[in-house]
Amino acid sequence: MQNQNNWDTIVAPATPHGQSAVAVIRISGKEAFQIVKKIWKGKELDNAKTHTLHFGKIVDSNNEVVDEVLLSIFRAPHSFTMEDSIEISTHGSPYIVQRVLSLLVEAGARIAEPGEFTKRAYLNGRFDLVQAEAVADLIASQSSAAHRVAMQQMRGRFSSKIKQLREQLIHFASLLELELDFSEEDVEFADRTQLLSLLSEIKKVVHHLKESYKYGNVLKRGVPVAIVGKPNAGKSTLLNALLQEERAIVSDIAGTTRDVIEDEITIEGITFRFIDTAGIRETSDTIEAIGVERARQKMKEASIILYLFDVNTANIEEVQDAIQEIENLNVSYILLGNKIDMLSEHSKLTAIQEALKKESQAPFMFISAKNEKDVENLKSELLKRVQQWEASLQTDIIVTNARHYEFLEKAEQALSQAEHGLLSQLPSDLVAMDVRATLHFLGEITGEITTEDLLGNIFSKFCIGK
Ligand code: GDP
Repeated sequence: MQNQNNWDTIVAPATPHGQSAVAVIRISGKEAFQIVKKIWKGKELDNAKTHTLHFGKIVDSNNEVVDEVLLSIFRAPHSFTMEDSIEISTHGSPYIVQRVLSLLVEAGARIAEPGEFTKRAYLNGRFDLVQAEAVADLIASQSSAAHRVAMQQMRGRFSSKIKQLREQLIHFASLLELELDFSEEDVEFADRTQLLSLLSEIKKVVHHLKESYKYGNVLKRGVPVAIVGKPNAGKSTLLNALLQEERAIVSDIAGTTRDVIEDEITIEGITFRFIDTAGIRETSDTIEAIGVERARQKMKEASIILYLFDVNTANIEEVQDAIQEIENLNVSYILLGNKIDMLSEHSKLTAIQEALKKESQAPFMFISAKNEKDVENLKSELLKRVQQWEASLQTDIIVTNARHYEFLEKAEQALSQAEHGLLSQLPSDLVAMDVRATLHFLGEITGEITTEDLLGNIFSKFCIGK
């Protein structure tokens, strides 16, 4: 870890570029007060207490007033970075922000790198790596579900769970290491039965956390929903009805929706990303064939598939084939019989329903995309799917970060090997190695074990000023 005293003072705008009522410039580091004082005209800052506001002017070297501002003062360690920090609230003009930044740089500050404020907060011990990453997620969150999981991680529940697992393992590891010191004497300090049950318990928790990622990731980015069906089934019309606007091209000519169009809606705080795809059918037209291939790909990536068919023209075998294809993908799906408004004989509906009931357990709905009939019910059904998914998770902590997932996976593998080693009575040093590896992988998640590369990689993804 770097010595805090060597760190220079950094500055960056904390608000986005553009005109606004107010813009905030943040400065942090041990010279923060000295630097701001050089361009400040107002109350003496030396004795100003932490968490106080000060009205005054920013002036240039010719004593010309650049802006009237408010300073928010934070004295170390009572700031986000835990260093001396000042936030300068200026009028929200990009010109003023630029001028004040230049003046601060002339006075000795350096423009911050992306994520540098948060990196300092982390290195100064304000929070661990999971919480630092949650700050980025919180800023990026665009739905209440994404916000909820980011908040949960920022509050540190995931971190404390990982730390708790590590502590249990450390105890176990130290007993094993002790055995290595006494290897000549063939003693066992660590009770093998207890060790095994601890390993399997930790593995279970790690596994459940790992499994929650699929859901967490979807929640963060929006639940991908693929709308599939033959050309003219009404996919674009349904998408438009869902989105309430004319985004996709609606056409009478079969196969015109050649490209994949993506759009989003939020239902009760959960974002759904709809993917309209070219129809699933064998074709000799190459452009469309690419579309069909992409449709298959999108179906595999989807969390929910909506299979749409025209109740007036569909033949049961065709629908049954499609169900088979979807079931092979192992993705949750809903069958939608469309264009119900055009159907004259009710008996046909019953026949379709009866035939498909035998085929599939999937919920079945008759809709009219054009008249938006039952589109609201479809939305409720989508929401229900996501709620059921969350309820089926074996953990109330949801992993949303790919990096965390990767280390959970490595930890799970190391745990399996340690378990296997114990069961096959391998020598203690081999078992100890796998336990150490597990500790290492879990430690990488929270940042108890880090490398400069890892930190660089994480914080460079932040925006400037964060
Ligand atoms: P896609 O090829 O599956 O995307 O199908 P489109 O959405 O382009 O629809 C094909 C045609 O069916 C268009 O003329 C739509 O207006 C019509 N259509 C779609 N849904 C309905 C519906 O619920 N009822 C009726 N009567 N026509 C529909």
